[in-house]
Amino acid sequence: MSRTVYVNGEYLPEEEAKVSIFDRAFLFADGVYEVTSVLGGKLIAFDGHVERLWRSLSELEMSAPCTEDELLEIHRQLIARNGFDEGLIYLQVTRGAADRDFAWTDDLEPGLVLFHQEKRLADNPVAEKGIKVVSIPDERWGRRDIKTVQLLYPSMGKMMAKKAGADDAWMVEDGKVTEGTSNNAYIVKGGKIITRHLGNEILHGITRAAVLRFAREAQMQVEERPFTIDEAKLADEAFFTSASAFVMPVVAIDGDSIGAGTPGGVTKRLREIYLEEVQKAAI
Ligand code: PMP
Repeated sequence: MSRTVYVNGEYLPEEEAKVSIFDRAFLFADGVYEVTSVLGGKLIAFDGHVERLWRSLSELEMSAPCTEDELLEIHRQLIARNGFDEGLIYLQVTRGAADRDFAWTDDLEPGLVLFHQEKRLADNPVAEKGIKVVSIPDERWGRRDIKTVQLLYPSMGKMMAKKAGADDAWMVEDGKVTEGTSNNAYIVKGGKIITRHLGNEILHGITRAAVLRFAREAQMQVEERPFTIDEAKLADEAFFTSASAFVMPVVAIDGDSIGAGTPGGVTKRLREIYLEEVQKAAI
């Protein structure tokens, strides 16, 4: 069945949705995006995603295509028009269309595209088993805190993982894990949750912020610092977070089992707390 999608002010069947070949997102990856999960027809952590979108736009001196209220209304329209219950809403803002030139001008009309993808997120069977990761060098650009559509290296990383018989890759820079191809990385040792501190080297995950807040509220110990792959292999548990996977157990790194090689207790508890809390606050 054809989806209804949103393109530059219009709700259209997906086959009729078109963008310009001169759009700078197509020519230069000059665009930013957000992915918001939907559970029971409601948006999870919408405010956080919009706040990060404004920050990405401002770091790249891009104009906002509309207001926060208008963005919320578009998300809600997509849910209503598609009878959508569970999955993701993808949103992309582009700088706009112009004759191809590396330098941009300030008068471009920003582009806005949104569409949804149905996906089982809460009762995800993968979370019962956990996933395997491989380590790869982090060869992305230096401003990973900006959520751009420049995703070729993360795509290559997923393919490297697949070829190695794993599910995802954790990226390593200067001997330390930065993050996963599309998620933030954590280990647990002696009950303490360890994850890299915020900076330009990683995306400031909206799920990360919520999970760390819930962990601290539940009196769990949290340490924000870099860790190595060797340290991760000796950890009791490992997991990652993202808007689409929530809290996902990692049970092996580069072929070595983490802890018992099954999802750990802290990870399972964090997933439960996260799902309970964000659903209470969904809008
Ligand atoms: N890091 C990277 C590189 C990502 O692509 C993502 C997901 N877009 C994340 C972390 C997790 O961020 P969030 O929790 O906001 O989905």
